[in-house]
Amino acid sequence: MASSDAPLMLSVSGARGIVGKTMTPEVAAAYGGAFGAFLKATTGKARPRVVVGLDGRISGPPLAAAAIGGLTATGCDVIDIGVAMTPTVGVMIGHHKADGGLTVTASHNPIQWNGIKCLDGDGLAPPPAIAKEIVDRFKERRIDWCEPTATGRVERDGTAARVHVDRVLRNVDVAAIRAGKFTVVLDSVNGSGCVGGRMLLEELGCRVEHIYGEPTGVFGHTPEPLVENLVDLANATRGAKGAACGFAQDPDADRLAIVDETGRFIGEECTLVLAALRMLQRTGGGALAANLSTSRMVDDVAARFTGSRVIRTAVGEANVVAGLRPANGILGGEGNGGVIFPPVCWVRDSLSAMALVLELLAHEGKPLSQLVAALPRYAMVKRKMELAAVGGMAAVAPALAKVKAAFANERLSDVDGVRVDFADGWVHLRASNTEPIVRVIAEAATEARADELCEVCRRAAGV
Ligand code: MG
Repeated sequence: MASSDAPLMLSVSGARGIVGKTMTPEVAAAYGGAFGAFLKATTGKARPRVVVGLDGRISGPPLAAAAIGGLTATGCDVIDIGVAMTPTVGVMIGHHKADGGLTVTASHNPIQWNGIKCLDGDGLAPPPAIAKEIVDRFKERRIDWCEPTATGRVERDGTAARVHVDRVLRNVDVAAIRAGKFTVVLDSVNGSGCVGGRMLLEELGCRVEHIYGEPTGVFGHTPEPLVENLVDLANATRGAKGAACGFAQDPDADRLAIVDETGRFIGEECTLVLAALRMLQRTGGGALAANLSTSRMVDDVAARFTGSRVIRTAVGEANVVAGLRPANGILGGEGNGGVIFPPVCWVRDSLSAMALVLELLAHEGKPLSQLVAALPRYAMVKRKMELAAVGGMAAVAPALAKVKAAFANERLSDVDGVRVDFADGWVHLRASNTEPIVRVIAEAATEARADELCEVCRRAAGV
């Protein structure tokens, strides 16, 4: 399926569609209205308060304006924080004691896309049942537009980045990081992380070389923070005198990828592992949460600290938080570079991730390349197939059932798609929540073996 034919994707992660086709101001107004009506029904408040932000992609302002229209027309009061990182929306919900948040973002998707994500009053991505209720209200247009005199008001707050940065600073060892006098190259892809990313690093005493640091919303490169899209960051880090590392944020700044001081991409799986290592050092051990598609490295690192464990969850931020929060976990996240640091917010946060990695560098006093070399290493293979090419959504469940039957004697999890654990590796097959694709991810000691696991799984699935 070409992306221009993609349907509006409605899932636990919210709504995503192609701008001007399936994602329009009409959709955004109805989604805002559905969320507003949902909040009124569930909070029992006449005027719930909602924080609204947008990720800075150039198609965002009309969609955000429409969503604000939908919210205020159901009687919600809106705090408009403007262009903001997705985690900043989470922080500002707590700051304003709001009842929920809405952000206009399509995360790392290419510029043709945009979307809407809702957060609850704790700044959490709503759990699947609640997310479904909001989506159902939207689909059925169950929106109770309010009386004219009850229309909500809009208040603007331009301090969001500052509030978010301050909260990160209160929860890391600022003195140690400042003493490290790090030079850091930052690639913000001209997205919402530009202002807060730079502010944080400067407050941490870093000399910052900022590339794609203008919040124009016109991405400087293909936005997903993968090795092939970070060539400029690698070159800039290699070329910067004495750089400690290079950081890449995705457009809504919830994910972070890292290159070491030699300009080598260390792999997005390492972000969570490095941040987790620092938190394990700091606390002496504790509970971590990660999704089923995340590398085994985090288990290996946790195993070095007595009493630590890794809670494995379905893919998606809400699921990770649902594992992390009741366990009083010290850190959670996903292998795509998304780190959830509970003292700051319940949203994956590139700022917290940067600060924890710098804290690790400061305390270890070694170059990043050496710290990475000391981590257990696996090869990971991530493949994607167009949903249409495998027979559409209807073909997914039978394919999963075939995989389960084929590997009935191995360790299986069907919490999300199906994951099969072998003695020397694992493979995870699932349909994406946010794109019309099926993902197959495998990890093993060598790339050849990981490739083989993908292939074995694909064949068993008959796709
Ligand atoms: Mg993102």
